[in-house]
Amino acid sequence: MNVIEEMIPVVEHLKRAGYIKNEKVIQALLKVPREEFLPEELKKYAYIDTPLSIGYGQTISAIHIIGMMCEALDLKEGQKVLEVGTGSGYHAAVVAEIVGKDGLVVTIERIPQLAERARKTLKRLGYDNVIVVCGDGTLGYPPLSPYDRIYVTAAGPKIPKPLIDQLKDRGKLVAPVGKDIQELILLEKRGNKIFKKKLGQVAFVPLIGEEGWKEY
Ligand code: SAH
Repeated sequence: MNVIEEMIPVVEHLKRAGYIKNEKVIQALLKVPREEFLPEELKKYAYIDTPLSIGYGQTISAIHIIGMMCEALDLKEGQKVLEVGTGSGYHAAVVAEIVGKDGLVVTIERIPQLAERARKTLKRLGYDNVIVVCGDGTLGYPPLSPYDRIYVTAAGPKIPKPLIDQLKDRGKLVAPVGKDIQELILLEKRGNKIFKKKLGQVAFVPLIGEEGWKEY
């Protein structure tokens, strides 16, 4: 398998720091070219574990955050996953590597220019198992629901109810919640029961929409 040389030390660090251990997550991070999702002038920082600007006031998440979210979601081959907050499309590509050709990633972005750019990048790189939708992801995406896994890459005041409704039984959802101080929450649905666990403090851009912040 082709691996991105510059990503090897980053992944080794994330393994040592305890962020990642799942072999599928490790292989996916080593495979997706992060520079392809960045504006020209920032490509040189692609393999530094930091968030970077992608325009329109938005950011691509730091690499350890993506690794940590993929671990918590316990992703499996063949799953159907919903992402809220496409941004650059990088996180969606990492998840697409893990769920594979029999899986599907549906990703929603509210800023049309970002949705269009991510769609083009993902297509150019051959990610046929990703569908980019432009719209308000706080409402989920009912046409392709229910989902095995859902994750949100922007922080809202609460976990949007439509997302919990569109999660399969025994499904898992990861989302940051809060304004100044945000907690990354892992939610699991079992029958009519919901279990929540705090994964730690994080800093994401705001989730803006009907079930998110109305304005920021
Ligand atoms: N996963 C991204 C990170 C993007 S930052 C990546 O890998 O690059 C979060 C994104 O969520 C931003 O692009 C922002 O525009 C988007 N966003 C915020 N509120 C949203 C909503 N209600 N629906 C869809 N996208 C939203």
